[in-house]
Amino acid sequence: MTIQNNLFIDGEFVDSEDRSRIPVLNPHDNSLITEVAEAKKADVDRAVEAARRAFPAWAKLAAADRGLLLLKLADAIEANADELAKLESIDTGHPLRDTRGLDVVRTAVTFRYFGGMADKVQGSVVPVEQGFLNYVLREPIGVVGQIVPWNFPPMFTSWKMGPALAAGNTVVMKPAELTPLSTLKIAELARKVGFPKGVINILPGYGNIAGQYLAEHPGVDKIAFTGSTATGRKVVQASAGNLKRVQLELGGKGANIVFDDAFLPAAINGSAFAIFHNQGQACIAGSRLILHEKIADAFLEGFLKLARSIRLGNPLDADTEMGPLTSQLHRDRVLSYVKVAKEQGGEILLGGKSPERDDLARGCYVEPTVVRAKLADRVSQEEVFGPFVSVTTFRDDEEVLAIANGTDYGLGGGLWTTNLQRAHRIAGAMRSGMVWINCYKRVNPGSPFGGIGKSGYGREMGFEAMHDYTEAKSVWVNVDAKIPPWYPR
Ligand code: NAD
Repeated sequence: MTIQNNLFIDGEFVDSEDRSRIPVLNPHDNSLITEVAEAKKADVDRAVEAARRAFPAWAKLAAADRGLLLLKLADAIEANADELAKLESIDTGHPLRDTRGLDVVRTAVTFRYFGGMADKVQGSVVPVEQGFLNYVLREPIGVVGQIVPWNFPPMFTSWKMGPALAAGNTVVMKPAELTPLSTLKIAELARKVGFPKGVINILPGYGNIAGQYLAEHPGVDKIAFTGSTATGRKVVQASAGNLKRVQLELGGKGANIVFDDAFLPAAINGSAFAIFHNQGQACIAGSRLILHEKIADAFLEGFLKLARSIRLGNPLDADTEMGPLTSQLHRDRVLSYVKVAKEQGGEILLGGKSPERDDLARGCYVEPTVVRAKLADRVSQEEVFGPFVSVTTFRDDEEVLAIANGTDYGLGGGLWTTNLQRAHRIAGAMRSGMVWINCYKRVNPGSPFGGIGKSGYGREMGFEAMHDYTEAKSVWVNVDAKIPPWYPR
């Protein structure tokens, strides 16, 4: 496996100006995978300049040709899927069954979707008053800064780069300092398939240095950010200097509601996936389980049994269903919420600790954790971002909506019921950018992804994303030969 560990600027892998490096660890045992070049201000300047130089030609390239390069990149990702998946598993701790079966597949699918989309985003003609023609062009914005977190690196690379590049923008992306390897690998593949120099630039680096400077940079026209709500706020402040456009995909506290008429075997399995997939490190995780009091005991019996049986282990083992969290620091943060829960009267129904197994002792593992808690408790309000679910019960629709809508977040949420009318009524009343009925965490490149409230604004995926990566230009044409009436002489 070849590992890229340099910055990718202007079509080349290069060291950072001051040669500083960031250690990249395997969270299974905290061993060193590599040391990656750390971008600082001078490197951000270099990358933004390269992206600026590349922008005019890239924007003028026929949209179909931009699309073709994205299609080739999707093919290259598929051709290298095994290697990418392994790299991702050692870098993030996601089990191979997920990196190979979901993350890398979705990365290719998303690049392919936007490759196909490139020449299908059209302007419009507006029916205005007689004598005039008004048409609207959709033009690229320019240089786009993109900052992504560590939980789904290759997928987020495609979600952000796909529409930005298809629309004719050039990109400077900062992956998370913990997990830059798959994004650098994608840059290597992009170079191989023929993306012009400077169109894609990748800068591993720390958030408060490279990320902050990218968000501030006057040469960047838009900043697209995925990460925590606290950092999102800083990005907005940093963007104010040149009033660049901002798109924010932030935290969540997903409500996962199970009604008394739900098909319980499906609800139990789907709810376990909602919180335990990717060790719960998902902004759309179903981290609040809200159970109708009539079925709460029966549901919990099955849910706890399933959670207990989830196979923790080395992400590279084929039968591992749950790997380690992505870093030691994050593992400690997640476990600190066990104490928080207990202090507020929460009852630990399962887990709440690292597994007591020699083979996992050096890694960042946390057992599936289930806690009974009240709506107002911190574990029901704050994003834990781990395999940690808070459980509460409800009696009727009114109460369940008060609970579901009772946080500052509004990203994703789900409900399980066999009652068609209730399903749509509750989905309509949930304050959430995405709702899943009798399923959870479905995503598709055609379907808008994003949140409301403290979960951010703007949408990824679909036509919505293409709109978010273009500016509308309104062009007025006088098609009448007459002299205008303003100063009759
Ligand atoms: P984070 O906010 O700490 O970091 C995210 C990215 O921002 C990283 O690349 C980091 O280096 C960078 N960063 C940090 N400080 C910065 C600053 N001052 N200026 C600019 N960039 C800075 O988040 P995280 O802990 O890496 O990721 C977890 C968070 O991401 C969770 O809150 C999760 O909900 C959120 N998330 C949201 C979505 C979504 O689509 N809504 C998806 C995945 C993750």
